Amino acid sequence: MKRFFAFMLMVASATSFASVQIHEEVFVVGQKPEVLRDLILSGSVEIDHVSSHGFELFGDIGLKKYLDEKNIVYFDMKEINKTAYADFPTYEMMVGRLQAIAAKYPNIIRLFTIGKSVQGRELLMVKISDNPGVEEVEPEFKYISSMHGDEITGRELTLNLIEEMASKYGSDAELTELINNTEIFIMPSMNPDGSHLKQRANAKRIDLNRNFPEIVDQDANTTNGRALETQLMMQFQVSRQFSLSANFHGGTIVANYPWDSRYDLHPLNDFIKELSLGYSELNPEMRRSSEFEGGVTNGAAWYVVKGGMQDWSYIWHNDLQITIELSHAKWPRFSEIPGFYASNRDSMVWYMKQIHQGAGFKFARGNVEGAVVIKQTSPVSKDLGSFAFNRSEFYKVLPEGSYTLSIKEKSGASQLINMKVESGKVRGNGNYQALN
Ligand SMILES: [Zn+2]
Repeated sequence: MKRFFAFMLMVASATSFASVQIHEEVFVVGQKPEVLRDLILSGSVEIDHVSSHGFELFGDIGLKKYLDEKNIVYFDMKEINKTAYADFPTYEMMVGRLQAIAAKYPNIIRLFTIGKSVQGRELLMVKISDNPGVEEVEPEFKYISSMHGDEITGRELTLNLIEEMASKYGSDAELTELINNTEIFIMPSMNPDGSHLKQRANAKRIDLNRNFPEIVDQDANTTNGRALETQLMMQFQVSRQFSLSANFHGGTIVANYPWDSRYDLHPLNDFIKELSLGYSELNPEMRRSSEFEGGVTNGAAWYVVKGGMQDWSYIWHNDLQITIELSHAKWPRFSEIPGFYASNRDSMVWYMKQIHQGAGFKFARGNVEGAVVIKQTSPVSKDLGSFAFNRSEFYKVLPEGSYTLSIKEKSGASQLINMKVESGKVRGNGNYQALN
């Protein structure tokens, strides 16, 4: 009873991102989120997967009682998760599989950890590239899966992808060319505790995809007060120069593009929509979606998410990211995984290749910092804004066309370069202009 009053108090006073603790998980049947508008605006609950059937709602102890008193019809998703199929590989089996792949293909695979989860599980990352132990000047791509622990499909699909890329290196021309000219990072399980517990949140009941710095709320891009797994991902992102990425979820089938947190269009809106349509084009079930036209959606147009990884990734790190929902069932039967992989394999490979549609530069000198103002000159004339760069390197995924890049170093030195961005081909070590 005490917890229920605490919940009511939280509803009454707006709370910050870190305070939503997920103890109760329900699916509100046959309603739109507007039915609980005040509750949602209070920041004491989180929603997900809004559809014509209803929506998911997550909150502290007392949420179900609150819904009962309002006569809102729901079912308890935790009861469903209790019956989740037990035939999925364990965390230990996943680790074993990754270690075996890394040991078998050391020339292109490097397995490492970015740190330990709350319960001490390693957040394992695979780097796939030629010379994986060397930092090369190549565009950097990443796939992250299962930051929602109970959305398990992507964990298995990314493991299959890693294995296929490793085993076909040297024999499959498309994969070999991609691996030779790109630094690809894949993390099958960003929330291994959540997957072990068959729950959405991390072991401290924090939803990682509502936990990143939020520009709308004028958050600073600092790790202070965030979940451990969020902090580790933030630190990893700073250590790299990613320019294209995706994060995999489950619960429906759609490719979701930014922004999630606000209704204005992303400066590269048409381009991101094209990339998302490119993913769905090769995935028949996504493309035929009855909920989403063409199998894609703008994030905020679907429902507003604050603190998501997707928007944070671009706003703070110039890393264009989409969110891909892979399966209607968050936790399907393991025997269904080969079918999901078959539906997504070509899309996953195609999307990785799109990182080569971009332009950048690399200074021969070390530790050059500064900013670059990018202007598209054809086929349309458009200012794309100013972007910071560091460690002497910059690369950005861009629509096809011609660009001017006005580079200004912190020291005051400046120069202007012209670059062309072409679609549809993997460039030798990426499209970088060498600078002195
Ligand atoms: Zn999710």
